[in-house]
Amino acid sequence: KNKGGDNYVFASNNDTCSLKRHSELSLAMKSNLFIRELNIVLQPQYSTQGKIVGSEALVRWQSASLGGISPVEFIPLAEKNGAIIELGNWIIDKTCSLLAQRRVFSKETSPISVNISAKQIAQPNFVDNLLTSLDNYQVPYSELVLELTESALVTDLKLVVSKMELLKSKGILCSIDDFGTGYSSLNYIHHLPIIELKIDKCFVDDIKNETDDVPIINTILQMAKSLKLRVVAEGVESKAQLNYLADHGCDVIQGYYFSKPLNSTQWLDKWKEKLSD
Ligand code: C2E
Ligand code: MG
Ligand code: MG
Ligand code: MG
Repeated sequence: KNKGGDNYVFASNNDTCSLKRHSELSLAMKSNLFIRELNIVLQPQYSTQGKIVGSEALVRWQSASLGGISPVEFIPLAEKNGAIIELGNWIIDKTCSLLAQRRVFSKETSPISVNISAKQIAQPNFVDNLLTSLDNYQVPYSELVLELTESALVTDLKLVVSKMELLKSKGILCSIDDFGTGYSSLNYIHHLPIIELKIDKCFVDDIKNETDDVPIINTILQMAKSLKLRVVAEGVESKAQLNYLADHGCDVIQGYYFSKPLNSTQWLDKWKEKLSD
């Protein structure tokens, strides 16, 4: 159709391969095993001084038939075939369980942020189910943060905003993930009940040296400041990036420079380490 009207083209080898891959992945997601093959990892988020201020929950899938698959590959498919609902419920449950486990031995209250897809938040019972999960584990609502991308907002902005308002009234805060990579949000960003913007790694990658000038980062940081929003920089891998971001007023750093994502045992051990400090 892109070629205009009555044209036909042969599917290239690449197209056929990716179609085959997609159907293999979708089939594996339909299996009863799927949920049992998921794992949660947690990446700590740090103040510019190096203190842990939160963590992000990230899903991992180790398929018995296909091996380890990146969320970059399977999340978009799960969003299409509906598996994202079950996956999303699983990761919320797992997150609440870890927060409850931490409470047994630690007074730490720094939150875990969970990625939420458009389809998930659009579910009529999304907020009720979320509160039920937190209640079941007796986790304070303020220990959960929801990360939404700009694309999750545009599907039905009014509906999503009303849910975000309700969540906020309960103490559950929202963050905009991958900020700047989606639809231009500048005209409605100040109406959103959010506390945080996350600068995507692709912008952070532009910082090569501390003395660089990266106008996009500066603009996001200035805008966030005037809207009184916290900013998390993602994918920070070097000291130069950390220093640049700290100098320009970025609040929170997430990336390999401080820590790769940890498995749940390693994550729980972090708070045990703190006990013995
Ligand atoms: P995201 O939410 O923007 O997560 C940040 C991604 O950057 C993660 O990739 C993380 O491992 C990676 N990362 C963090 N620091 C660094 C760094 O210093 N260098 C490099 N090279 N990468 C870094 P991951 O875990 O592969 O997840 C990719 C995306 O998949 C996430 O991007 C998110 O959009 C989605 N995703 C992951 N877990 C979930 C989930 O449970 N639910 C939903 N709906 N989406 C998820
Ligand atoms: Mg995220
Ligand atoms: Mg992100
Ligand atoms: Mg990203």
